[in-house]
Amino acid sequence: MNEDLYKGYRGVALEVLKKYNAQVWSDAKISTNNGGYYEGRILPRSVTADDLHIVIKLHTGYNIGIAAKKIIKIEAEGKKEAIYKVPEKEFPFDPKKPKVKLLGTGGTIASRLDYRTGAVIPAFSPGELYGSVPELADYCNLETEKIYGVFSENMGAEQWIGLAKAIGEEIEKGVKGIVVGHGTDTLHHTAAVLSFMVQNSPIPIVMVGSQRSSDRPSSDAALNLMHAVKTASESDIAEVMVCMFGPTSDSYGLLHRGTRVRKMHSSYRSTFRTIGDIPIAMVDRNKITPIRDDYKKRRKDKNAIVTPVFNDKISIVYYYPDMKPDIFDSLIENGYKGIVIAGTGLGHVNKPLYPALKRCQEAGVGVYMTVQTLWGYVQMYVYETGREMLQLGVVPLANMLPEVAFMKLGWALGQTDDLEEVNKIMLTPINGEITDSEPSNGYLIYQGGIPEVEEFIANNQK
Ligand code: ASP
Repeated sequence: MNEDLYKGYRGVALEVLKKYNAQVWSDAKISTNNGGYYEGRILPRSVTADDLHIVIKLHTGYNIGIAAKKIIKIEAEGKKEAIYKVPEKEFPFDPKKPKVKLLGTGGTIASRLDYRTGAVIPAFSPGELYGSVPELADYCNLETEKIYGVFSENMGAEQWIGLAKAIGEEIEKGVKGIVVGHGTDTLHHTAAVLSFMVQNSPIPIVMVGSQRSSDRPSSDAALNLMHAVKTASESDIAEVMVCMFGPTSDSYGLLHRGTRVRKMHSSYRSTFRTIGDIPIAMVDRNKITPIRDDYKKRRKDKNAIVTPVFNDKISIVYYYPDMKPDIFDSLIENGYKGIVIAGTGLGHVNKPLYPALKRCQEAGVGVYMTVQTLWGYVQMYVYETGREMLQLGVVPLANMLPEVAFMKLGWALGQTDDLEEVNKIMLTPINGEITDSEPSNGYLIYQGGIPEVEEFIANNQK
C-alpha cells in the first residue's frame, strides 16, 4: 500500500476510501445513507484524529468530516494537492510613510492549516504576511519580527516581560506605532499587563488577533491587520489597545482600551467587547473615529516608562456555591502571594471560606475581590458578610475586571512584597482599570435598540 495516497487515514475511514478508489486530494462526490450529498476535495487526516471520518474541503472553503460508515458512494476524480503556503514578498519601502513595527507572538492570526496534523499551527513570517495582505503597504513601512510563535494559552510571565521589553526598545528606536499579533484567547490578559508594564507610551500599541484562520473564507485576519496597522500608523491614540471586529459584519473594527476589554464569545469574530465602558474608537480602512476624547494622545518624545516585572505566584479563584476552604489553604501551602477572587453578586463567597481568608491574612497572602458579573462594582459595605470579609483583609477592587486584576496583581507583586504597597498599586488606576462610573451605553451593547444590535440580529437570522 502506498500510504501517501491516504495521508493520515486509518481503520474504517481508510477502508472506505480504498473501496471507492478515492485518495487524498481527489475531487469527490460523496453520498451517505441518510440522504447526504457532499462535493469537495478530500483532505489529509490528522494522524492524531479518529479513524471514523473522512474530511473534505467543500467548495465554500469550509471543512467537514463525514462519518465513513454512513458513506454509500464516493465518486473520485482528478487530484490537486493544495499548497497552503502564502507567497512571500518583500515589503515595499516608501520614505514618506511612517515606520511601524509588528511584533508577532503567534495565535491564529499568524497561522495556516497544517494538513499533515490537521492542526492550525503558528507560522508567522513577515513575507507571508505581506504576501497575503499587500494593503498593509498603503499605511506604513512595516517591519516585522516574530518574537514568539505560540498559541496564546502558552503566553506567560516570561513572554509578557519579553514583549514589554521589545516594545520599550521599539519606542526607543523611534517607530511611529507598534502592532502586536497575538492569539485571541488570552489577548485581553496581555493587553492588560502591557497597559501596566508600558506606561506613558508616546505612540499607539495595538494588539490584534483573528478568530478564524486565513485559509477560511470568513477569516477576519486580513481586515483586523489592516485596521490595526492603520491605527498604529495614523492614530493619535497613544495607549495599549485591542483592535478587533466591532459588529459581526466587517463594516468596522473597534479599538478597545487594554484594561477594559475581554473576549466574550468563543467563535464570533466580534468577540472582543469593552466591559463597563465604551470603546475608544471605531476604525475602518479609511478613517479612525474616536467615540470618546479622554484617551492619551500621541507625542513626539520617547518617554515611555517600562516596568517589565511579574510575580507568577498568584491565582484567580472563581467562587462557586459550596466551595471548600481547602482551595485557599492549598494556595497558601504552595507559596502563593496573591489571590484575586471573582465573587458572586456584589463580591461574595460563602461563610465556610472565612477562616481560610483569615489564614491568608495571617500568612501575608493578599486577597482581592472582583465580581463575576463583570459589569458593575464590588460593594462590600451593603451586606454584613461583605463587612466581615473586609475585616479579614479582603481588598475590594471596584470595577476592575477579574483577569485585569490578576495581571495587575502579578505586576504589582513583581515590584514589591510589601502588601500595603501592593494594595496601593492595586487601587491606584493606571489607565481605566478602575473608573468612577460605568456609562449605561457601555452595558447596552448587545441588549437591543442600537444599530449594532439590529445588524447583529439581522445577520444571524439569515
Ligand atoms: N487558540 C488561539 C490562540 O489564542 C485562538 C486564536 O488565536 O484566536 O492562540
